Amino acid sequence: MEFRYLGNSGLKISEITYGNWLTHGSQVENDVATQCVRAALDAGISTFDTADVYANTKAETVLGEALKGERRESLEIFTKVYWPTGPAGKNDSGLSRKHILESINGSLTRLQTDYVDLYQAHRFDTETPLEETMQAFADVVRQGKALYIGVSEWTADQLRAGHALAQDLGVQLISSQPQYSMLWRVIEDEVVPASKELGVSQIVWSPIAQGVLSGKYQPGQAPPEGSRATDEKGGADMIKRFMDDDVLTRVQAIKPVADELDITMAQLAIAWVLQNDNVAAALVGASRPEQVGENVKAAGVKIPAELMAKIDDALGDVVVRDPAKTTETAPKKRPS
Ligand code: NDP
Repeated sequence: MEFRYLGNSGLKISEITYGNWLTHGSQVENDVATQCVRAALDAGISTFDTADVYANTKAETVLGEALKGERRESLEIFTKVYWPTGPAGKNDSGLSRKHILESINGSLTRLQTDYVDLYQAHRFDTETPLEETMQAFADVVRQGKALYIGVSEWTADQLRAGHALAQDLGVQLISSQPQYSMLWRVIEDEVVPASKELGVSQIVWSPIAQGVLSGKYQPGQAPPEGSRATDEKGGADMIKRFMDDDVLTRVQAIKPVADELDITMAQLAIAWVLQNDNVAAALVGASRPEQVGENVKAAGVKIPAELMAKIDDALGDVVVRDPAKTTETAPKKRPS
C-alpha cells in the first residue's frame, strides 16, 4: 500500500480507502462484510469511510464491529453527516448545529470509537447558515470527537466559503469527497483548481463507476448474478445512470489498455483516478473479499501519458465533464 497526505495536513491515509455504501448492512451479509474489512486490513488499507445514512446507520455499526480490537492509532476512520437518519424527523437531517452535535455522538457509539479522524458534510445544506455549520464542526473538533473536517459534493465556491470560515475558527477543512472516475470528470475544471489553492485533497467515490469500469457489464446482456446492477435493495437504482449500451460499449474499448499494463480493468480504473495529484485516495467498495485483494494492487501503478490518451480516445463523448453537474446529487432543499 502507498500513503498520501490528506490536504495540507500531517495526516497520511491509504491511497486506496475502503468504503461501505450500499454493501454493509444492506447488499451483503455481516460475515461477508467482516471478511471484506479483514481483506482490506491484510492488504494494508488503513483508511475506512462510512456515513450515518448508509443502511440508515447499520453500515457504521457493521464497520465498528469489524474493526473492533484493531489498534486505533493505526486506523483512519471517516464518517459523514447530512442525509436523514432514524425516523427522518425535521431535525434528523442537514447541517444545523443540533443535527451535527447529535449525529456525531450516534456515529461514535456505532463505530465504537472516541473520535473519527475525519468528519464530513455529506452535502451542502442550503437552509442552514454556513457560519452555524462551521461553528458546529469546529466545536466537534474542539470536543475531540473529530480531528479534521471535510465536505462532499460541494462546489468550488462553497468550498472556498467553508474553508475561509474554518480557517477563522482555527480548524482544518482538508478534504472534498466527490464522485470521480474515467466516466465522471466534473471536478476537473473548478473543484480541483480551487482545492489546490486551498490545500484540500479529493477522496474520490465510485472510482470503478460502481463496478461498470471493471468491464463485467456487457452491452445488450443481462448483468451478472449478484452484481450491484441486480441489487434491488438500492444498488440497481444507483448504478443505472451508467447502464447504457453506448457507455458499456465504450468501456469495453479500454480493455486493451489494461492488457498492455498487465492489470485488470478494475485496477486500471482505480489507478486512473490516482494519477491526478490532487486525489489523496480512491474510495473503493467491494461486495466480496476477492475484489478487495484485486483492487489494492492498483496502488502505486503509473499509467504512461500515451495510455491515458488512449483511454480518452476509447471513451470519447460518453465522459461527463460539465462542472455544473457537481450539484446533481445535492438537493436544493434539505431532505427529510
Ligand atoms: P466503486 O466504484 O469502487 O464500486 C464498488 C462496487 O463495484 C463493489 O461493491 C462491487 O459491486 C464492484 N466491484 C468492486 N471491485 C470489483 C472488481 N474488482 N471486479 C468487479 N466488480 C467490482 O465504489 P462505490 O460506488 O462502492 O463507492 C465507494 C465508496 O465511496 C462508498 O463505499 C462510500 O464510502 C463512498 N461514496 C460516497 C458518496 C458520497 O456522496 N460522498 C456516494 C457514494 C459512495 P458488485 O460486486 O455488487 O457488483
